[in-house]
Amino acid sequence: MQNGAVISPTVEAAAVCFPDDGPDAAHLFVRLTAALNRAEPAAGGEVRLNVPLSTEAAREQFMLEQDLTRAIDEGQLKMVFQPVVDLSQGRLIGAEALLRWDHPVLGPISPGRFIPIVEATGMSDRYGLWVLNAACREARLWQDEGLTGMKVAVNLSARQLTDPNLKDKLERTLQRHDLDPKALELELTETAAMADAERTFELFGALRETGISLAIDDFGSGYSSLSYLKNLPFDKLKIDREFVTDIDSRRDSRAICRALIELGRGLDLLVLAEGVENAREVETLRALGCNVFQGYHFAKPLAGDDFRRLAADSDWLASLSAPPVAAHIKGRLSA
Ligand code: C2E
Ligand code: MG
Ligand code: MG
Repeated sequence: MQNGAVISPTVEAAAVCFPDDGPDAAHLFVRLTAALNRAEPAAGGEVRLNVPLSTEAAREQFMLEQDLTRAIDEGQLKMVFQPVVDLSQGRLIGAEALLRWDHPVLGPISPGRFIPIVEATGMSDRYGLWVLNAACREARLWQDEGLTGMKVAVNLSARQLTDPNLKDKLERTLQRHDLDPKALELELTETAAMADAERTFELFGALRETGISLAIDDFGSGYSSLSYLKNLPFDKLKIDREFVTDIDSRRDSRAICRALIELGRGLDLLVLAEGVENAREVETLRALGCNVFQGYHFAKPLAGDDFRRLAADSDWLASLSAPPVAAHIKGRLSA
């Protein structure tokens, strides 16, 4: 306390080791910054250590960090688009935009592996904008080609949520591509949404006013309190693939899907099942009341050209007018 003002200093510290973490000062500094970014803010009095990676893992991680700083400029990134279908309407309602990195030496690297590095090294703003532009560019092409009434869904990382200018950036990008905000949906994982529920609540409220839709991704994999969920303004709940995959073999997965579908109905949300891989899963989920799907059973993520070709393919579109759920499945579910 000084002159009545409370001063709350915070200290951030990280340590790196020569030569394990880098051969010279420049490399050690990059590693140090990454370590600081990676550490979660610690609660008062708590000290949190970054468990050191093995030398091999550290070297690989370091190499990927370096390569990611160049991946955008060197044209190694691309977006793919996975169809989202609504069987109650028998139509394609949009696509999720998924990022791909084609590493010049290692080949394709999954976003599950490199997005955490992007986040930890403070590059999520640059990557986020690149992704948003690429997705909006594709949505513009859909409209130019007469493929209307579809939304493009973009994944937001937890770090992007903390950007005070996020709303402006989204609005400016939509304007640049001459897109209606209704053409855009943002996906945030349940875990990221609940990490700072108050901030998410404010941001989602502001974004919703613009007309952008919001989805909670990988739902069921986190541990959210239902009371938080009730207060969060969002439009769609995406059931995590983990429960969908086991729906026909595990009663607990089926019970979770049933509860989430029911919850969605009660909160007036659209419920989507992710990662459906076969007709049986689709039928089971339809019998439980879910009609919106995304998964290899319908289509894998596709390059923009291939997505647009599929979206205009009348045979494929006709296959979405699936017959109603067979009575024997309903019987099996009530067992
Ligand atoms: P997600 O947002 O939950 O995306 C769904 C993931 O499931 C995608 O993996 C997709 O290819 C995969 N998938 C879809 N249908 C099936 C299926 O039937 N079977 C199986 N086995 N998998 C299926 P992907 O593209 O590897 O992305 C993994 C995660 O990386 C995403 O999970 C998302 O959290 C993150 N991600 C992807 N693109 C971006 C991005 O542009 N920005 C951010 N921040 N994260 C991204
Ligand atoms: Mg997603
Ligand atoms: Mg997901």
